[in-house]
Amino acid sequence: MLTQAPKGTLDMLPRDSHRWQGIEASVRRICALAGYREIRTPIFEHTELFQRGVGDTTDVVQKEMYTFTDKGDRSITLKPEGTAGAVRAFVENHMYADALPCKLFYVSCPCFRYEKPQSGRLRQFHQNGIEVFGAKDASVDAEVIQIAMEILRANGIDDLSLNINSIGCPTCRKVYLEKLRAWLAPKLPTLCEDCRKRFDRNPLRILDCKEDVAKLEGAPAMLDNLCEECADHFEKLKGYLAALGLAYNVDPRIVRGLDYYTKTVFEVITDTPNGPLTVCGGGRYDGLVEELGGPATPGIGFGMGVERMMMVQDLRGIAPAAPAPLDAFVVTMGDEARLAGVKLVRDLRKAGLKADLDHAARSMKAQFKFANKAGAPKVVVIAGDELARGVVKLRDMENSTEAEIPADEIVKQLSD
Ligand code: ATP
Ligand code: MG
Repeated sequence: MLTQAPKGTLDMLPRDSHRWQGIEASVRRICALAGYREIRTPIFEHTELFQRGVGDTTDVVQKEMYTFTDKGDRSITLKPEGTAGAVRAFVENHMYADALPCKLFYVSCPCFRYEKPQSGRLRQFHQNGIEVFGAKDASVDAEVIQIAMEILRANGIDDLSLNINSIGCPTCRKVYLEKLRAWLAPKLPTLCEDCRKRFDRNPLRILDCKEDVAKLEGAPAMLDNLCEECADHFEKLKGYLAALGLAYNVDPRIVRGLDYYTKTVFEVITDTPNGPLTVCGGGRYDGLVEELGGPATPGIGFGMGVERMMMVQDLRGIAPAAPAPLDAFVVTMGDEARLAGVKLVRDLRKAGLKADLDHAARSMKAQFKFANKAGAPKVVVIAGDELARGVVKLRDMENSTEAEIPADEIVKQLSD
C-alpha cells in the first residue's frame, strides 16, 4: 500500500516532464495568439456547483465524483471537469462587466472522476481547455474548434476526425425530447438498466448508450428537430469550418456527457493501433452562466485530455525526445580544483548553460562515468597541474577529443 499509488493515478516522472511542458507551452502559445488569457481555479468546489453546473442526472455527477464532507461539514467535490469552476469564477469576480467576449484557457487542470480504471481512463487526469463567455456567433464555435485542432497538431497528433452535432436549445429540445420519449417508450423494456433509468431524467443520454446501439437505430435525431435559430447557427458553423479548411463529419449521435451543452457539441477523435480515442470534447453552453447565478451570457469551450494526448504519442511512437539534461559537466580532482569547479559551474549557469559537477567526492573515473550517463556532451576537467597553469581540459564526449583551454575563456567557448 505504502509504495503503491492509488488506482487510476499516474506519477509524472522527470523522464516525461519535457512532454508535459511541451504540451503546456503549445497551449499557452496558441491560445495567447488568439487573445485568450490563463485562469486557474481551485481543485475543489462546493458539490452543488457541479450538481447544478454539470447536471444532476449525468454519469459524472451520479457516479463519478470525488465528494467528501470537510471538517466544517460542507460537501466538497474535487473538480471532475474545468468548465463549472471557470463559470463560477467568471460570475463571482464580475468578469461579465469587463469587455466581452472573455476568452480564457487553462493548462494541465487536474480533474477527478471515480471511473473504472482502464486504458485511457484515469481517476486523476488533466485537461487543457478554453472557455469563451459572451460570444454567440457561430464564428466563435469555429474558432474554439480550430484552436483544439491546432493544439493537437502542434503535438504531432494529426490524422484527426472532427465530429460535430447540435443538441439544440431548451425550447426545441423540449419538443424533441417528447418525440424521443414517444419513440423510445415501446422499446423501453428491452433496453439496458441504465437506459431505463435515463428515460425520465435524461433521455438524450440513451442515444449515447454503448450497449443498445442496434435497438436505437432509426431514433429521431435532435438535428432534424432544431428550431430555426439553432438550425441557422449550425449551418453557419459548417460554413465557418469550411472557410477554415477544417473537414468535419456531422454525427447526430453525439450528445456529450455533461448536461449544460446547447447548440454546438463536438468531439475530436484520433485513430490509434488500439482503436479510436477521443482526445477532446466540447460545446456551447448558453444557459450555464445564468444557471449558476450570473447574467444571461453565452459560453463555449472544450476539454482536452492531456494523458490521452500522451497516450496517442506513445502508441504512434511520436513522443518528443527528452532534451539533454546537461550541456556540460565539470570534473574536478582535489580540493583546490573543486573550489574552481564550483565557481565555474556558477558562471556557466549564469551564461545560460545547464551545468553541474560532482557533489559526492567521487573518483575521476566515476565522475566521467556519471557525465556520460547524464548525456553531457562536454566535460571540463580541472585538475592539479592544469590548475596551476591557468588552463582546463575540455573534452568533447561525442568524438572523444580533448583540448586545453585557458581557464578564463572556457565559459565563452562553451557558450558559442
Ligand atoms: P468519455 O465519453 O470518453 O467518457 P467524457 O464525455 O466523459 O468522455 P469530457 O468530460 O468531455 O469526456 O472530457 C474531455 C476529455 O477529457 C476527453 O475527451 C478525454 O480526452 C479526457 N478524459 C475524460 N475522462 C477521462 C479519464 N477518466 N481519464 C483520462 N482522460 C479523460
Ligand atoms: Mg466520461
